[in-house]
Amino acid sequence: MRRIRMPNHFHHAESVTRQSCLSIICRIFTHNAVGELIFTGTQNCIRTMSVIFQQARIINPLQHVDITGTVKVSDEGIIEEVVYGEETLAASSADRVLDLRGQILAPGLFDMHCHFREPGQEYKETLESGSKAAAAGGFTGVALMPNTKPVIDSPLGVAYIRHHATALPIDLEVIGAMTVASKGEHLAPFGKFRSYGVTAVSDDGSAIQNSQITRLAFEYASNFDLLIIQHCEERSLTMGGIMNEGLFSTQLGLKGIPDVSEAITLSRDLLLMRYLEQHKLHDPLRRPRYHVAHISTKAALDLVRKAKQDGLQVTCEVTPHHFTLCDEDLFHAEMKGNYIMKPPLSSRENREALLEGLADGTIDAIATDHAPHASHEKESPSDQVAFGITGLETSLALTITELVDKKVVSMSRAIELLSVNPRTIMRLKPLLFAPGETANFTIIDPCALWSLTADSIKSKSTNTPFLNRPLKGRSRGIFHKGQLLESDGV
Ligand SMILES: [Zn+2]
Repeated sequence: MRRIRMPNHFHHAESVTRQSCLSIICRIFTHNAVGELIFTGTQNCIRTMSVIFQQARIINPLQHVDITGTVKVSDEGIIEEVVYGEETLAASSADRVLDLRGQILAPGLFDMHCHFREPGQEYKETLESGSKAAAAGGFTGVALMPNTKPVIDSPLGVAYIRHHATALPIDLEVIGAMTVASKGEHLAPFGKFRSYGVTAVSDDGSAIQNSQITRLAFEYASNFDLLIIQHCEERSLTMGGIMNEGLFSTQLGLKGIPDVSEAITLSRDLLLMRYLEQHKLHDPLRRPRYHVAHISTKAALDLVRKAKQDGLQVTCEVTPHHFTLCDEDLFHAEMKGNYIMKPPLSSRENREALLEGLADGTIDAIATDHAPHASHEKESPSDQVAFGITGLETSLALTITELVDKKVVSMSRAIELLSVNPRTIMRLKPLLFAPGETANFTIIDPCALWSLTADSIKSKSTNTPFLNRPLKGRSRGIFHKGQLLESDGV
């Protein structure tokens, strides 16, 4: 479903302009199931005046741009002018001017792997609270994994999220389930997903174990031009495991998860991809596209590296917690529950391999796997513990602190990992700094020193190992949907 907003009192709103923002009544129109435009109510919309983003460091790897410049955005949220260099744009009293010297203006960050828990587990997170956390972290859009309750395995679930997304400050893309109820037994309706604008399918959280179902998923996904996102885990090896198997799991007396589990599922999938390509069993016009979620081991990275060299359409993402922490950090931590996730924090060697993969281009994207849980579900690292941690509010800062500041990647490559590549992988419209384009930016202060505290957190949940950790770099705000949303406390 698409929503179109039409201002009721547009001319009146224009005539009372020259304040910092305008409140107008918008009529909401929605496409019904047969594509007709129907009136569904009114809503108060805030429209900003023209904004001039003055003298920012503009970075967009897609345009090979990393240069000082100024961007003017109309009150409709469209880029009117871009000038590079020291030249500034003259502002009238009606324009809001943001002096961004020392700040970065980047295409809006996009997180391709989030769990917002709605419908079904709203006590952990809702579409609204998750969106607030995302906006605070500098994201103008996220892709939601389908493992809600119920699982998003039909167009109805997709429509539910799209309906609620229109009123939120960021874009919510929906990833459809790969199999019905993510049980790995019967494929979900890929064709219907496609007609509802879904671009990717995944059974994140419960990797498909059955090779025949996986093969069928590849074939149908290629028919409907859907990306397959795989959570790689061989469950017969990981069943009952809590943390990475090794010295530290032994010392803590916790059941281990052997790190080879990830590469076993990935190997099978890549073998199937090669087989289908070799025998031309996929759609002749569309080759299968495959994306590895939250990659965490050297063995898996080596497989992706080789697959890319061989020309397979394979991409992968890493989470900030996997490139920042290892199982030794869990061993020393007080709140061990906040260090428990799948795949588990791995060995120091695996973490170093991830840094190498980020530097050499094997890793395509940084994604948070934002997985909120209530405190009581994370209290102890027992077999009852809930897997996963939140990440939207610390992702950008950890990227700058752990990767850019330590010279693992450049700032431009960081923007590629956090914005350009995830959008490309998800087949979303590229964001450009050019007149006529829709303004969709993240403003980044690369030098801000700060910490995430329990009372400043926007997510409904606080299950993160990064609370009170000194961080460098943060989002100062986002500009999206015609609105400037400045971050608190910046
Ligand atoms: Zn997962």
